[in-house]
Amino acid sequence: MTYAPPTTFAGPSPVWHPFTQHALAPEPPVVVRGRGAWLQTAEGGRILDAISSWWVITHGHCHPRIVAAIRDQAGELDQVIFAGHTHPAAEALGRRLVAMTPPGLDHVFFSDSGSTSVEVALKMAAGFWRNGGTARSRILALEHGYHGDTIGTMSAGERGVYNAAYAPFLFDVTRLPFPEAGREDTTLAALEAACRAAPAALVLEPLVLGAGGMRMYAPWVLKEMAAICARHGVLLIADEVMTGFGRTGTLFACAQAGVVPDILCLSKGLTGGALPLAATLCRRDIFDAHYSTDRARTFFHSSSFTANPVACAAALANLDIWAEEDVAGRVAALGALQEERIAPFRDDARFSGARRLGTIAALDLVVADAGYLAGIGPRLSAFFRERGLLVRPLGNTIYVMPPYCTSAGDLDLVYAAIAAAADLGTAA
Ligand SMILES: *Cc1c(COP(=O)(O)O)cnc(C)c1O
Repeated sequence: MTYAPPTTFAGPSPVWHPFTQHALAPEPPVVVRGRGAWLQTAEGGRILDAISSWWVITHGHCHPRIVAAIRDQAGELDQVIFAGHTHPAAEALGRRLVAMTPPGLDHVFFSDSGSTSVEVALKMAAGFWRNGGTARSRILALEHGYHGDTIGTMSAGERGVYNAAYAPFLFDVTRLPFPEAGREDTTLAALEAACRAAPAALVLEPLVLGAGGMRMYAPWVLKEMAAICARHGVLLIADEVMTGFGRTGTLFACAQAGVVPDILCLSKGLTGGALPLAATLCRRDIFDAHYSTDRARTFFHSSSFTANPVACAAALANLDIWAEEDVAGRVAALGALQEERIAPFRDDARFSGARRLGTIAALDLVVADAGYLAGIGPRLSAFFRERGLLVRPLGNTIYVMPPYCTSAGDLDLVYAAIAAAADLGTAA
């Protein structure tokens, strides 16, 4: 038996899309197929997926090994309650994640999205301190950080128009200035000062702040921040939801700084981007703080689809691909291709801040007046869409974060369009 959903529909769509202002957004294309770096629409159009479908697709769409794993697992065991039960895919995946992350991260908690992986991390930190008998609850976070859209993760993330309506629900955090190149000492001094008040944890995106505008900072700063946290006994939560699985050039970004966090959050690339799944890894003593004959010390968190077998099978296939194919080589090659193409923009006055780390390249379109800035993102998105390119700028920040299988020729299409988009910065 085969399955294919319908592709034509009567009447207006009842579907409410994420981060979409429906009064302004154009009709979305109906995407019916994905192969490698390309998507195909119901009308037969082709779209180059230059942002890996919101940073999740690593090897390319519909990698045969991941597809096969999903098909086989779905026919065997689709879902089972994970409280009081386990299954082979979760057991194998948990062991492999512990084996492939730095020593010390000995326990894995599964959930189903990046937001929940960070939410779980915050709750693990809170439980660690509470069960240890110390009243530490304050969270430190980086300016411009993004950790998800649940109440807890919005609290830790940058405040702005995106969460203003929910501000009454958000808890207060201590925000450290972003470690801008040349001004890193300000961040480190602020962290040192904040640590004296005995906070529970520092949560950060290592090396690249994604949604905050693809802002990059140096590995030595991450190393220093980790050292300050360690000195004060403050837990370090590394949100590698976006940076994990090769994005920054190494399997995990923390490795570039030689940092082992106390808690590590993984999601987007965990299944190669094919299915929703997340893992929060933690140090043994964080697990141990919850290990007790006292039921009140239980880690009280769950979601219905925790460690879904099909998603775990997709993740195992992803790890097989990492182990058996030359993914590291592909990541390095894509990084080099990105560098060649972003380099000329460093001398182009219509852009500023051309930067790259691993497979991620970004630059900021210089915009004539600040008022114009508000509408530039959607305008740029439309410009790229008309050219068959899925590029979704963050305001005036244009970034390219394609699947690792993207060819030099495909990248040329993207960069030619970026060069052509330059004039949108000054056009009124
Ligand atoms: C995308 C993202 C999240 C949230 O992940 P979701 O799966 O969208 O909930 C959290 N942290 C970072 C760094 C992200 O990029």
